[in-house]
Parts: sequence; structure tokens; C-alpha cells
Amino acid sequence: MTHKILRSRQTKILATLGPASNTPEMIEELFLTGVDIFRLNFSHGEPETHRKTAAMIRALEAKYSRPVGILADMQGPKLRIGKFKDGSVMMEHGDIIRFDSNPEPGDKTRVQLPHPEVMKAFEMDGLFFLDDGKVRCRIREKGEDKHGSYVIAEIRAGGKLSDKKGFNVPGAYLEIPALTEKDKADIKTALDIGVDWIAQSFVQTGDDVREARALIGKNAALMVKIEKPAALENLEEIVSLADGVMLARGDLGVEIPPEDVPSVQKHVVRYVRSTGKPIVVATQMLESMITSSRPTRAEASDVANAVYDGADAVMLSAETAAGEHPIRSVEMMTKICARTEEDGIYINFMEESNMESIGNPSDAIATAAHYVAQDIDAKAIVTYTVSGSTALRMSRQRPGVKILCLSPNIDVVRRLSLAYGVHAVHAPEVQGEFSGPVPHACTIISEQGLAEKGERFVMTAGVPFGVAGTTNILRIAEVE
Ligand code: PEP
Repeated sequence: MTHKILRSRQTKILATLGPASNTPEMIEELFLTGVDIFRLNFSHGEPETHRKTAAMIRALEAKYSRPVGILADMQGPKLRIGKFKDGSVMMEHGDIIRFDSNPEPGDKTRVQLPHPEVMKAFEMDGLFFLDDGKVRCRIREKGEDKHGSYVIAEIRAGGKLSDKKGFNVPGAYLEIPALTEKDKADIKTALDIGVDWIAQSFVQTGDDVREARALIGKNAALMVKIEKPAALENLEEIVSLADGVMLARGDLGVEIPPEDVPSVQKHVVRYVRSTGKPIVVATQMLESMITSSRPTRAEASDVANAVYDGADAVMLSAETAAGEHPIRSVEMMTKICARTEEDGIYINFMEESNMESIGNPSDAIATAAHYVAQDIDAKAIVTYTVSGSTALRMSRQRPGVKILCLSPNIDVVRRLSLAYGVHAVHAPEVQGEFSGPVPHACTIISEQGLAEKGERFVMTAGVPFGVAGTTNILRIAEVE
């Protein structure tokens, strides 16, 4: 006998797995503590390790009869410097350093920068950053040598630099391929593993998304990571081509000034919410819990702030992948989400930021279901969905009650693990106008612990049943 898994919050938790957590025991504990969907970070680890980790998640899913999402996050065309003769160097403020394409390892005076396309984007007196913005350089001279272009830069903020650290050229549009050869191979592996979501990094244009979609097709949902200024400029087109969005504040906060990140978060979350696609707020949410058993007050506020914004999910990165307190981090995140959702100000925010109906019948039914559920104090809103779109439409409304989503399609059920307020159940298709679906829903509501006998629920459906995109009926029923 296993426990019922019913979350007491609507905001979902996405947690990254890594050396600190990728064992069956840890994954089970993380799931029981509150993780709804796990992230496999393909920037690290071998494909075989990810395959084994995914198998552990699927075994857990079978044990608890609950869908658990898997997101495979691609590394993308992350720019990196080359290697150093001694593995690392100390860069001091005021040092003058040459950055070139010479394949020899670098030293105290020169850094190998094997990206000719980036050399082109460098501008005199422009800034570029190394190691997530820790080391900052200003370009003082540009030139050509036998290896190609080079730049001479002055170190404006020093620090230790080691082999293969990342670098960013803030604001520049870089003519680099959207998917590297590694990404293409990793997408293949991820699809073979059967992941539910694939996240594409460093997207800059709609064409970047089209390229990933051409490889993925409908075999997994596609999440775009917003972490480049160009992606902010092309946000509408990028989002229209994706199934979900991650605000990847780690790289974004290097590419744009840190003071711009909060308002960008507000705008991106609000815009993506209006489209009804899931939006994840990510990175450094409980960063200090990598080593400390309690978060800073600012971190607790950051998680709460993403919840107040109405994000579908909040993400843990190194906290669960490589930190000392993976379980406590999830426990803390769960508590912050649940506590914030109880707050009257949050409830008002969700009401006030209610998304207007898009004007089609399915959307009008979702809007109505939200209000009817509120009026009659319904304990759940039930949706039958083939493609998942009815559940997402309902989720877009941010109703205060759980959305029980019943779907015969296991892929859809798993993908919905990311969607706000959705409790998805893999259930066979039922026939009949309401004579079949209503008692069927009652049984599942009771089994899942969503409501008790005599309590009411609201049900939306498309008649005829089982045809995608035909939501046209709303029904109030009582658990029998
Ligand atoms: C980020 O940059 O915020 C992010 C989520 O991407 P990654 O962890 O792959 O750097």
C-alpha cells in the first residue's frame, strides 16, 4: 500500500538531479517531499547516467501510480574559453590580456578563445564577462594574427579563471548555430530515454526554436530557455513556437544588468501566462542552501515572489543536484509556495491578474468553470483532455482549486506535471454524454483524495467525448 500523493499547493517544483541526488532512494524522498518534475542537466554527466536516472524516475512513478515529469535540459551553444597550461590563472584588476584563437593552452598573459564568430561581435571598448560575470574585461585593441582575429582586453574585475569557463558578450547577437552537435546527439538520447520535456538553451530567434522542433517533433514538449537579450526582443515569436518557457536567470543575469532581472521576470511571466503555456522561474532560488541548512531571507522572498507572479513552477538547480541539503531545499521550497498561496494578497493578485478569455468557446468554458467553482465552493475542476490543451486553458485561469485532469494519453499526463494546479491522472477514455464520465470522475476524485462524498465539483468536457479541441460543456456534480 503506497500513500496518496496530493500536493497542498498549486505551484509546481522542478528539481535538478545530479551527483547529490541521483539514487533511487534520494529520488523517492525528493518526490515524497514535493518534487513534481525532475530535470536532467545535459551540461553535465554522461548520457548513460541520464538514462539510468530516468529509469529510476519511471520505477518510482510505477510504485506510486503517479505521473512524474522528466525534463532534459540541453547545454546549448554555451561559449567557453580554452585551457590553461596550469589549469587556472589569477587575473588581477588592470591586467592586460590577449584573447586569441591560438590552439596552445593559455597562461597569465593570454587566454585561448576558440570562437571566431564571437571575435566578429566584439566592439572596441565593449565589455565581456568570464565565469558567469565574475571576471569582467574591456576591449582595448582588436587585430589579426596567423590564427585569425584577436583582442587585447583590460581586466576590470579580477578573479581566478580555470579551464573551459564560460564567457558572455552581453547584448550582442551572435551568429552561432542554435544547436551544437552535442545538443543534437543529446536530443536523440533524450527522446530515446522517453523524456517528457526538452529544454533548449540560448535561444535567440524563432528559427532557433524551429530547428529544435524539427528534431523533436511531437515526441516531447519543447521548453525554450530565455537567457539572451535577443530572446527578449523576439519573445512573442519564440513563445508561440514553444510548449513552455523557462526564465533562466543564471545566464540572463550575466547578459543583462542584475537590476533589470526582476522587471524582466514580471513581464515574461505575465506574458507567458497570458498564452496559457507553462512558465518556470529558475536559478539561484535557494542558492545558499547548497551549503547551509536554511535559506537567506532574500532567497525565501525570491521563491515567494515567483509564486506571487503566478509562475507555474519554481526550480532548484545545484541545491538538489550537488548541494549538501537536497531534501531540506525541497522542503523549504514547498513550505514557501504553500504559505504564499494562502496569503490574501496572493489570492487577490491571482484574481486581479485573471487572464481574459481569448474568445473561443473552449476558453469561455474555462473562464466560466473558474467562476462557477468559486461560487459553489467546488473542491475540484475536472477536465477530460486528449491533447492537454483543456487542462492548460483551465490552469491559465489560476483557479484556487485543484484541476483534476483525466487523460488516456500518458505523455500528456506526464507533461502536465509542470502545469500550475493540475493534478493529472492517466485514465481510460470514457464514453457517453455524462452518464459515463460523471461517475468515473467521482471515483477518481475520491481515490485521489480531492473531495469527499457530498462535496461538489465542476466538470468541463467536449461533447462528443474524446475529440481534441471541442470543450463546450460545463457541469456541476456532487461526489457520490
Ligand atoms: C540558467 O542559466 O539560469 C539556467 C537554468 O541554465 P543552466 O543551468 O543550464 O546554466
